[in-house]
This record gives sequence, C-alpha cells and structure tokens, in this order.
Amino acid sequence: MFEWTILTVGHLSRNKFWGEDEETAYRLPLATCILLRGEGETIIIDPSLPAKEMAEALLNNSGLHLEDVTRVYSTHFHYDHHVDLDSFPNARKFMPKIDVDYLKSHRDEVMGMWTMLRSENVDVLEYAEDHLVSGMSMVPMPGHTAGISAYVFDTPEGKAMATGDAVMTREFYQHNESYFYCWNMQQAIDSIHHIKGMADLIIPGHGQPFLEKTYA
Ligand SMILES: [Zn+2]
Repeated sequence: MFEWTILTVGHLSRNKFWGEDEETAYRLPLATCILLRGEGETIIIDPSLPAKEMAEALLNNSGLHLEDVTRVYSTHFHYDHHVDLDSFPNARKFMPKIDVDYLKSHRDEVMGMWTMLRSENVDVLEYAEDHLVSGMSMVPMPGHTAGISAYVFDTPEGKAMATGDAVMTREFYQHNESYFYCWNMQQAIDSIHHIKGMADLIIPGHGQPFLEKTYA
C-alpha cells in the first residue's frame, strides 16, 4: 500500500482538446510527477523539475528532502520524464528496459535533441522490471515509445496507475487518442484500450489524476 502525492501537475506544450494547433509549441511541457511512500521506500515517478525546484516541490508537498528519496522510476525515455536525475543522491534510478537500451544505443542522437540530458544520467539507469518494490507492478503500454510502461500500485483510494505518456490527459483517455508525437500510433491507441478497467485511478503523463470509470 502506498500513500501518493502529486508533486507537479503536468501540462502539454500543445493540447488539441483546447483548440491548439499541433504544429505550434505554446509552452514548455511539464510531466506529472508523483511521490509514493510505502513498503519502506520513498519513490518518485517521472521527476519533472531541475534540482532546486524539485527540492521545493518535495518540501512543500511532503516535508521531505531530495536526500530522502530512495528510488526514482521513469515511465519512458523522453527527457521531461527523467529531469536532473542526479538531484537524488541516495536513490537508484529505473526505467523500462526497452527504453534504457534505446537511450544507451542512441545516446548521441538523443543528447543532440535534448541538450539538458546528461550522459552520466543515462549510465545510472537500471531496468525497472528487475527492481520493482513489493506492491508495485508494471504494464507495458507500447506506442508513445517502444518501451513505455505504466506503474501500478495499491493506494487507500484503490488501484492507481501512473501511465506516463501512454495517457496524456483525461481528455486523451476519454477520446482514446494518443499524442501526435508518437513512435507507433496504432499501438498507442491499442494500449489505451488495453488498460480500460484495469485501475480505479489514472495518473496521466501531463495532466490531473482522474477516476478511470468516469472517463472510460
Ligand atoms: Zn513522452
């Protein structure tokens, strides 16, 4: 059982459900970042902020410090879901295997695209599948990237699923739609259908948490 807290409510650089044009970046994206406490661990899913801002978000929402975090899990390799990994000096860092391997084998290309990524932060990544905490599971949700996976965990409110960008926001879930920036669109849509009914609470990659059955 885990207590959960949202550290940052994410948003998209453009949201077509708000009438925005997909060719235009209206703002920088921000991922939804989640703090989990339970099973003797303090876990961050999808760290979204540079060290100073992350320290403030953590302190303001939980009274904790960066040093208290024991594990960091990212849902996929896109840079906005593993920002400034070395801000957590005592945490091991995890990501789905397929995306870790992709990052390591396409390092130059990815660093060229996202200059804020640091090479040493890629080296510390371990395979999430091999290091889940008791009470956590993973559901592969290929499409947005090849390896993207949701983390599922029990909470006092029911079963929660942190989907990363497999579900962008509740509007995307409600309409069974994936984001335009996508590795395989058909697989991304299949993944959204696949998770229907699997959790009580969905915490999407770039928006507010929502009750699954309300938007299924
Ligand atoms: Zn992404």
